[in-house]
Amino acid sequence: MSYMVNDRLFWPGGKKKCLTLSYDDGVTQDIRFLEILNKAGVKATFNLNPGLFGVEGTVAAGKKEVPHIKIAADKILETYRGHEIAAHGQLHTSMFGMDPARCTYEILKSRNELEKLLKKPVTGFAYAFGACDETIVAATKASGLRYARTVVSTHRFDIPQNFLLWDATCHHNDEKLPELTEEFLSDDPYFSFYSPAKLFYVWGHAYEFDQDDNWDMFEKFIDKVSGRDDVWYATNGEIEEYVRAYRNLIFSVESDYVTNPSSIPVWIGGVFNSEILCIGPGETKELPPKQNV
Ligand SMILES: [Zn+2]
Repeated sequence: MSYMVNDRLFWPGGKKKCLTLSYDDGVTQDIRFLEILNKAGVKATFNLNPGLFGVEGTVAAGKKEVPHIKIAADKILETYRGHEIAAHGQLHTSMFGMDPARCTYEILKSRNELEKLLKKPVTGFAYAFGACDETIVAATKASGLRYARTVVSTHRFDIPQNFLLWDATCHHNDEKLPELTEEFLSDDPYFSFYSPAKLFYVWGHAYEFDQDDNWDMFEKFIDKVSGRDDVWYATNGEIEEYVRAYRNLIFSVESDYVTNPSSIPVWIGGVFNSEILCIGPGETKELPPKQNV
């Protein structure tokens, strides 16, 4: 039996594993969180509400009450340097039931305010309270965003087909985190219809570590997954950009040639062979012959 095997995504450098984190609300606990990540070389995306910068309060939500202080506008750039900032709505409004114009305004304004601060385009979003329905997704699309994160856990390592409904692997408090970590780091082949490359996506809020008194647990997790040559540590936006470049590859009818029209190199390989190729920006390459298995 013959398979067309040479058209699957691998991460930059031909790596098979990618780790990304997504943390919401821009609270002062992010400072301690970032110290852990920066020491370990792990990248994250932070989803912020520009209309709430500097607002001070507390949060309980059924758990221990802890400070919920939003980082001030003039501290955003230095705090999050080296990581990605994405939008999370201007005022962290739950948009269920809102009309489409108000929804779009809430999303678009947050994107616009962040862009003024960062002086570059913002491409990502996380649904506040996880609220996403047809109207909200359409508003996200109309706001020119390229990806948006839900609060759904897949317990898998798949690359999303629709980046505007990007489900995470799990929340950091998920009881399956230890076993998912082992599965992620294992070199056993990952069986996915879309790609043998794994994407481990963990999300949460840094204030939850204060509420649950489990900074330790998170530090151990980062210790275990960081500093590895076989893992690409990336922000959400870097992943979306890379997968977009992969999906823009142009294959010949018989999969014997491929062109990369993008401005970044893309690595591809097959499920059943070990050869991984890099297709440079603007390059056309001949692919290895198809394998009989
Ligand atoms: Zn939030």
